[in-house]
Amino acid sequence: MTTLDARPSRPLPTSDRRLYSIRDKVEAGERLSLEDGMTLYETPDIWGVMELAQLVRDRLHPGVAYYNVNRHLNYSNICALSCKFCEFHRKKGDEGAYTYSLNEIAAEAKKSCENGATEMHIVGGLQPYLPWEYYVDMVRTIRGIADDHAAASGSSPLHIKAFTAVEVVHLAKIAKRYKRDSRRESIRGVLTELKEAGLGSLPGGGAEVFDDRVHDTAFKGKIRSDEWLDVHLVAHELGLNTNATMLYGHVDNRRERLVHMEILRRSQDQALARLGWEGTEARRHEGTEGGISLAQFDAPEITLTRPGVSLPTANPSSLRASVPSSLPAQGHYQAIIPLPFFPDGSDLEHLAGPSGIENYRTQAIARLMLDNFPHVKAFWIMQTLPMSQLMLQSGADDIDGTVVWYDITHVGGASTHQEVTVSSLHKAIREAGYEPVERDTVYRRVQRDGAKWRVES
Ligand code: SF4
Repeated sequence: MTTLDARPSRPLPTSDRRLYSIRDKVEAGERLSLEDGMTLYETPDIWGVMELAQLVRDRLHPGVAYYNVNRHLNYSNICALSCKFCEFHRKKGDEGAYTYSLNEIAAEAKKSCENGATEMHIVGGLQPYLPWEYYVDMVRTIRGIADDHAAASGSSPLHIKAFTAVEVVHLAKIAKRYKRDSRRESIRGVLTELKEAGLGSLPGGGAEVFDDRVHDTAFKGKIRSDEWLDVHLVAHELGLNTNATMLYGHVDNRRERLVHMEILRRSQDQALARLGWEGTEARRHEGTEGGISLAQFDAPEITLTRPGVSLPTANPSSLRASVPSSLPAQGHYQAIIPLPFFPDGSDLEHLAGPSGIENYRTQAIARLMLDNFPHVKAFWIMQTLPMSQLMLQSGADDIDGTVVWYDITHVGGASTHQEVTVSSLHKAIREAGYEPVERDTVYRRVQRDGAKWRVES
């Protein structure tokens, strides 16, 4: 039974004494354990949890909240798979199935540049009928249009963030480069070519919840967690930043979510160690969690939430002098994006989906557990803008973008045109008590004059 108590000597009183030791760790910037995570999920003091998350959020990003001006492109909704939680995918010939031509994509890129977007966010289904060359041409075409526009207008060039880990593995297969026994090398070949064509970073989709039971129940056929992690590891080694998602609230349970966060945290330890961040003694891990072997995550424990620790940015000079200049300044996870599951239209429609309080709590716990992730994003399309405002007060520091056109799962189901204006985002962020800061994809500040924009040097 939970014991409620008051502890008036503490600056942030909580009614649940189990939070005292967790608060001590949070204030010192120490890493929380899985058991701490379970306590944060179980405590009735939801406000205490949100307050702790806010303490971390405000330490990392005092006074500000981020947004971006972006355009989403879902190039095709035709998919070889049929994940149970997905209402986006169609089979060839189904009503509503589509695939954009390269000409249509070029037109979208041109429009994005002219409207001042700093980013194109590109994802689609696992399209079995498109050749590998389509994807390389897509990236190269957009890159060319963006660079020409930047040269002519004086804006910085638009960034291409494209292809989830699931798509990257699919691309390696359709390029006939995928070899199971040298998986990372197959992925490296594909990502290297896409990077040379103009790819700037990877989104975080397709992670769902890292657990074999959850995988086999809800999205069997999709890559397992180890492959998802391999794609991100290779991307980081190539100097590409990535994000990570967690689609929760379907057949998963709270402990499985915490294991998901723990695995991501270890993966980020490796990425930051590669970039030169110092941590504790390298730790050896044994056993498995959710079907994932932990031995692959031997790395120092690196926390960014301690007072005074600098965050990774795209600017190498922000790193300590001890970091070799030959190392890329990029190649890590930027943001965790917790995504609540919406049952409408999916094969799991009979499930309730997570409650509002569960969404706040999960967002706050993600901030507290993922102590080496610079950013927590409340993705307004799936959380709604009003919920995202409150999440800015419980761990999140980013609400994503103006987002023109979004087909993947979002609140409400039917409509696909999701867009807010910059002034709506400014209003939402200011009401939440923060100064809005426009960022580019890799979190550099943007100076804007209408559709013309430059990243701050
Ligand atoms: S979630 Fe992705 S891989 Fe699964 S069916 Fe939908 S589009 Fe396809």
